[in-house]
Amino acid sequence: MKTAIVNLATIVTGDWRHPLAQGDSILMADGKIVEVGTVPADAVRSCDVVIDAGGATAIPGLIDSQVHNTFGDYTPRQKTVGFLESYVHGGTTTAIGASEVHVPGRPKDPEGVKALALAAFKCFEHFRPGGMRVHAGSIILEPGLTEKDFKEVADKGVWLAKAGFGAVQTPFDYVPMVAWAKKHGMITTVHTGGSSIPGSSGIWAEHLIAMQPDVSFHVNGGPVAMPDEDFPRVVNDSRIALQVCTAGNLRTLLLIADLVRKADQFDRLLIATDTPTGSGIMPLGMMYTITHLASLSDLPVEWAIAAATGNNARVYGLNSGLLKAGCDADVVVLDACVGGSKNTALDALRNGDIAAVAAVVTDGVPRFVGRSRNTPAPIKNVRVAECRIPQDFSQSGH
Ligand SMILES: [Zn+2]
Repeated sequence: MKTAIVNLATIVTGDWRHPLAQGDSILMADGKIVEVGTVPADAVRSCDVVIDAGGATAIPGLIDSQVHNTFGDYTPRQKTVGFLESYVHGGTTTAIGASEVHVPGRPKDPEGVKALALAAFKCFEHFRPGGMRVHAGSIILEPGLTEKDFKEVADKGVWLAKAGFGAVQTPFDYVPMVAWAKKHGMITTVHTGGSSIPGSSGIWAEHLIAMQPDVSFHVNGGPVAMPDEDFPRVVNDSRIALQVCTAGNLRTLLLIADLVRKADQFDRLLIATDTPTGSGIMPLGMMYTITHLASLSDLPVEWAIAAATGNNARVYGLNSGLLKAGCDADVVVLDACVGGSKNTALDALRNGDIAAVAAVVTDGVPRFVGRSRNTPAPIKNVRVAECRIPQDFSQSGH
């Protein structure tokens, strides 16, 4: 399938060092971006679908680097079906699982956690809720796992490992397991802040520095943050990627963003929602955290978008998160919402408003064009200008 988006006023790349691209159009074919900027007229004419953005803004599809998926598009924690498809209507095109810890009766023995991770990984390989790519199957680190177990699941495709919900005595018990997972090429993540380990004070800077995971999950608290004095240690004494979450502590989110910026290591800042959890289901959560960063700190709004896209892709090794030739064709068209005081998506986000999601394309396929069912309508008329295949991608949202 060949898809073009034309008549864009602004193209945000997702790369914080080069945040804007010149031009007004994007060409996609066979699930990949072919061109960003100026697409020749004959290439547009050869497309199956042409979306007229009406002067709106394109950004890479948002990557939520911490969702609590289980199986299918269902969350037992909030007893809701279809939440992932709903997140697509918030502009999220990729979700990364925080391990299948909410599966009712989830196993705690080594064979059980291996089987759970492998089953979830395989189930989501070919299942795209609402068009979203879900990276599931994060093995939950539990006592008794050996290096052989990590090699075994890694050889079968499991590439995520999660510390923080296991029946360990202290967080330091995770140190060898994180090292084995990393040795076998897995991306390792650690629950940070308020404890999920009974009798433990929480997972704080000293534990993170001992474990050296790839990602500190919800470093601003999920939902309870570690002490303020621990943040400079994690930022300055490690290279760990620092994930901030919507369902966390807003004050420390701003504190971390400031520290990372001052250290000139902005690419370590990752945005996620950390939902569904007790905090609920948040289809617009990624957008809220982008607006918090862009309106309550002096970070450029394009950087806040990069923290939700290109930064996540880099740390997790994904081929998405950037509007660049060769990357996965996951594109979101944003605009200011009808009835707001701003005229463009970026001005709205800077103002602290969410933006209207006017179209979402994943894997090169339009999932809806016109308006999202979860945001107000865009000011501009974003529409299907040409459609040469028998399918209706338009959505009124009413
Ligand atoms: Zn979480």
